[in-house]
Amino acid sequence: MQSYNPEQALSETRREFGEHGGVTPSIARSSTFTVMDPSVMAEIFEGIKGPEKGGCYLYSRHFNPTTAVLSRYLAAMEGTESAQGTASGMSAIACTLLQICRHGDHIVASDTIYGGTHALLDKLLPEMGIMTTFVDPVKISNFEQALTPDTRVIFAETMGNPTLKVADIPGLSRMAKDRDLTLVVDNTFTPMIVSPAQLGADVVIYSMTKFINGASDLIAGAICANRDFIYRLKDLHNGRFMLFGPTLDPRASFDIIQRLPHLGVRMREHSRRAMVMATHLERMGVKVTSPGLASHPQHGLITEIQNQGYGYGGLLAVDCGTQRQAERFMEILQNEEAFGYIAVSLGYFDTLMSCSSTSTSSEIPPEHQARIGLSSGLVRISIGITGSLQERVAQIERAVKSAGLVDASH
Ligand code: PLP
Repeated sequence: MQSYNPEQALSETRREFGEHGGVTPSIARSSTFTVMDPSVMAEIFEGIKGPEKGGCYLYSRHFNPTTAVLSRYLAAMEGTESAQGTASGMSAIACTLLQICRHGDHIVASDTIYGGTHALLDKLLPEMGIMTTFVDPVKISNFEQALTPDTRVIFAETMGNPTLKVADIPGLSRMAKDRDLTLVVDNTFTPMIVSPAQLGADVVIYSMTKFINGASDLIAGAICANRDFIYRLKDLHNGRFMLFGPTLDPRASFDIIQRLPHLGVRMREHSRRAMVMATHLERMGVKVTSPGLASHPQHGLITEIQNQGYGYGGLLAVDCGTQRQAERFMEILQNEEAFGYIAVSLGYFDTLMSCSSTSTSSEIPPEHQARIGLSSGLVRISIGITGSLQERVAQIERAVKSAGLVDASH
């Protein structure tokens, strides 16, 4: 277990107050900002001056005061020098990879990742001459064997979507550092629980749409890295963030600023409830995957790399065997038991569930799905934090029995 405390790091960073002494920051909605000294404008474009470098704000695609506050908080939480809020998790991933890689470069990526990221790596980037080799993330040697002289990036999700395989971030970091490669880790499933930058990741990505925001009412992403990388992304002339323009709206930044202080509390509760349910389902004989269970192949690894006190996360994967069984199970859970919602996404305060193979992993070809152990009956469940836990356990137990996932007399 790690001694890093992301909540403490977050609480120790300077708190932003609003105009008139507000306990919340003000929202700066201006798209453009007055430059009092005309000579400063040219210096901002040259990158000599900026809001943190003796200049001022310029234009909100580049720097926005409210998004800058959120970015500062995110950097504090991750323990990185800097960070940048983005308009979505996908734009955070795309801008990061396109900032690092040029035509002819190569990426080695985990083969168990979000379907959209898989499509980016497998379909779009090859059209730009950037190729990816996908490997099973459970062994470092799989990444090593896939390296070529053109490899620039190692990409993994801390906890893979939806198989919940865990990446050995310290091992990948050692390998990347030895070879001067950039380790990019998508930590969307495990904010607070794992702090990848503390384990040696160079760039930490989030879809803040999920746990970080926690309310399923906005789309947002984050890139946390050293100051140089974030400056390069925001270079006014050729930074990928500037050229693609995935700016996070200040109103969305404000909403996340207000929810970040209770992320730790929420993550603990998501984890506690998911653990109780995983243990119960496993005892009933259901094929359930959770990194918190001793039966999970990387249970030891996640226990080693996690920050103390946040548990193993809010996600479970229940293998119902077939897509039909999965749909029946979800239908009972939603329409008969009011246990949660059949919806994509995760990290909401209510439970969300979807059959991954035909939804958020449908970009991954069926033969590839079979290779990574993604069954067509896999239901990914993001366990919510509402309602009585006892009642929730009773609901899922009844649904498991009605759907015929176990012998009803169990
Ligand atoms: N990374 C992971 C692990 C995801 O699960 C998702 C979306 O489901 C994304 C990235 C993309 O995030 P967004 O929808 O915010 O673009």
